[in-house]
Amino acid sequence: RNHRSHIECRGDINRLNAHFLEIYESLIPPEEEKEKQKQLMALLNKHVTNEWPKAQLFLYGSCANSFGFRKSDIDVCLAMGDADVDKSEILLRLADILKSDNLENVQALTRARVPIVKLMDPITGISCDICVNNMLAVVNTKLLLDYSKIDVRLRQLAFIVKHWAKSRGVNETYQGTLSSYAYVLMCIHFLQQRTPSILPCLQGMEVTYKVNVDNVECCYFDQVEKLQGFGSRNGESIAQLVWAFFNYWAYCHDYTNDVISIRMGSLISKREKDWTRRIGNDRHLICIEDPFEVSHDLGRVVDKRSIRVLREEFERAAEILQYDPNPCVKLFEPY
Ligand code: ATP
Ligand code: MG
Repeated sequence: RNHRSHIECRGDINRLNAHFLEIYESLIPPEEEKEKQKQLMALLNKHVTNEWPKAQLFLYGSCANSFGFRKSDIDVCLAMGDADVDKSEILLRLADILKSDNLENVQALTRARVPIVKLMDPITGISCDICVNNMLAVVNTKLLLDYSKIDVRLRQLAFIVKHWAKSRGVNETYQGTLSSYAYVLMCIHFLQQRTPSILPCLQGMEVTYKVNVDNVECCYFDQVEKLQGFGSRNGESIAQLVWAFFNYWAYCHDYTNDVISIRMGSLISKREKDWTRRIGNDRHLICIEDPFEVSHDLGRVVDKRSIRVLREEFERAAEILQYDPNPCVKLFEPY
């Protein structure tokens, strides 16, 4: 498998920069979409504070971590202050309240893995999922957003990778492939590993931000405006990085022994995490450590069949980027 770990990139790779940047620009949400999100949040806030004066609403996920595409749904977390609430009860009550306003398709899904209320706002056209007390997701959203402010190449790379994953059908956790969140962690790790590095390891620096969520201590350096220019000693272009990213996951990553960890800013071993055996449904065939819930492997959705699909897609992408005369068409071809 690792037969191509030292392959050289094609000489004309930078020809692709303009194509990748064009795709990136075309996927960025326009300003008016952000305005509509705020409008919907204000409406939801009004209802929530009316019913639960101490509760708070937070945006999380791709609508708040800077890695969201245009026309995405939004993810909202209702923080109740009290950790011991009955989530189903709250969600059913919330659904009743929102039904009586102008919102459409309001549904409480209380038996889902993450119980939510779904709805569509006909005024802004935005669909939204609301969950209860999922504060770790709110905090990991802030971590991703902070990383995105350090070097624009992270956002560019993650957009290209997400766009590739969605086009190729490998961004479906219920089919055993990876979440968008997992792909962004892979991009952060990859940029931490370049020489010179393009991203620092924020959790390995002085602590300027600290919260305790569900008994997990979340702390890191969040004064990222002080890290402007951090990656400027590395002059790699977006096309070179996209090429190297797929080359890494196709031919260089050691799937048998390694875990990627943005918390450590390096690879760590499966052995030290005790992720070498299958336990229950956790197979650990590709290991991506959550930055805060460190016992959580984002690769745990991947099974024997889908690891093959994923690795074949990484290899396909690497081959196209290496040899195809017109890689941008082929790379994003619908599966
Ligand atoms: P998309 O643009 O595809 O909707 P997204 O960033 O909203 O992307 P999701 O994978 O839907 O990505 O996840 C939404 C948010 O939920 C993530 O940003 C993250 O904060 C949190 N999240 C998702 N999956 C996990 C997970 N397995 N463990 C911890 N947090 C997660
Ligand atoms: Mg989402």
